[in-house]
Amino acid sequence: MLFFGRKKPVNQTTPVPRPRHQKPVSGLRTVRRHQRQEERRIRELEKGLRERRVGLYLHIPFCRHKCAYCDFYSLAGREDRMDAYLKALCANLTELVSSASAHTVDTVYLGGGTPSLFGEKRLKTLLTTVNKTFHLDKDCEITVECNPESVTLKLIRVLRRCGVNRVSLGMQSAQDDELKAVGRIHDFAQVRTAVELIRKGGIKNLSLDLIYGLPGQSMEDWQHSVEEALALQPQHLSLYALTLEEGTPLFQRRASLDLADDDEQAERYLWAVERLEQAGFAQYEISNFALPGYESRHNLKYWLGEEYIGFGPGAHSDFGGVRYSCVKDLDAYLKGMSDGSPIVEESERVPEQERAREYLIFRLRTTRGIRSGEYRQRTRMDFTPLEEKLTDFAAQGWARSESFPGGERRWWFTPRGFLLSNQLIGQLLEVQEEEMRRTPLRREEPR
Ligand code: SF4
Repeated sequence: MLFFGRKKPVNQTTPVPRPRHQKPVSGLRTVRRHQRQEERRIRELEKGLRERRVGLYLHIPFCRHKCAYCDFYSLAGREDRMDAYLKALCANLTELVSSASAHTVDTVYLGGGTPSLFGEKRLKTLLTTVNKTFHLDKDCEITVECNPESVTLKLIRVLRRCGVNRVSLGMQSAQDDELKAVGRIHDFAQVRTAVELIRKGGIKNLSLDLIYGLPGQSMEDWQHSVEEALALQPQHLSLYALTLEEGTPLFQRRASLDLADDDEQAERYLWAVERLEQAGFAQYEISNFALPGYESRHNLKYWLGEEYIGFGPGAHSDFGGVRYSCVKDLDAYLKGMSDGSPIVEESERVPEQERAREYLIFRLRTTRGIRSGEYRQRTRMDFTPLEEKLTDFAAQGWARSESFPGGERRWWFTPRGFLLSNQLIGQLLEVQEEEMRRTPLRREEPR
């Protein structure tokens, strides 16, 4: 008999067959016990997945004015695209959430560009979207890069309410003439005011960026900038050597600039490392220093080879064994997010051999350094040839090591070693490559 347009009537006398794997349930109490067991199992499963951690980087590619040394992807005079960009970025976040739904986000970093120029309303929408879309760790580190001239109390209060707990402020120097020489549009008085507003707005964790080797800067000028930065009582300091990047206005003017030579730059760096150590700041990376417990957890992800997802033009990601970067063009990004044209420019599944190289390149930027057991486990290669090289470096005062029970050994560079890190890492890579040739194990799979 056929039944059209309505349910087939249930024959009350026919028992409903039970799936064969399911045990008969004898009563209500048993059903509840089964339900509880099942809920517990699901909770444990979710907990296991949540233990996978990821950092998010959100690029805000707008600046009021382009600094003379800057080669980051940022644009001046494109404020008219901010609303469209916010929309695109939020759509990008929502679209990607399914691939990271099993992860807990433990760091969020808004970098630029000048995120503080994006305006509190847009930042609020963006951070609310992040919060709603991803599973954020309750102790999530949320950093926003700010430039002194665009910091207001209202902005900081909004950021604080949105969960931002760290500000990275582009101070660069305490000397107004140095700031002017590289096209910074703030003076040191604005840095002081910005720091006051950050504190008043309730954000306690402050990082300051400084540049050494600015045109016309003497050793005394540099020392003065470091002392002024310390007087502002930050929790974290990043010290960068000025680099003349090809294509920048500063590079074009290089012949007419009064710049420090390599020895003078090394002297400034070593002085600062010592001075910051006296002030309680531990060096944890070539250019980064922190009071205990205030290392940038987000930036550590890059150096320790952990997963992160970048959003916005020019942003990079290393997620699920694949490294990819987003098109470095605001208009192409906006177009891609509106009509579905590709926004990923380069993408590669990173071979294990490359991961082994990166372990040396990135880890040796940090004072955590490399560990013999971890190296063997990750690369399935012998650590002895590297250890011989590192022992030579230690004899020159460029590296240090410590031993652990069971024979594990950690190696890291001293500040003098950091100054030579490119050459030293280059030598270690040669040793590693030789070892790869000698023992060609199965190294073609991704991590
Ligand atoms: S503010 Fe920062 S990102 Fe913008 S131009 Fe200057 S250095 Fe570059």
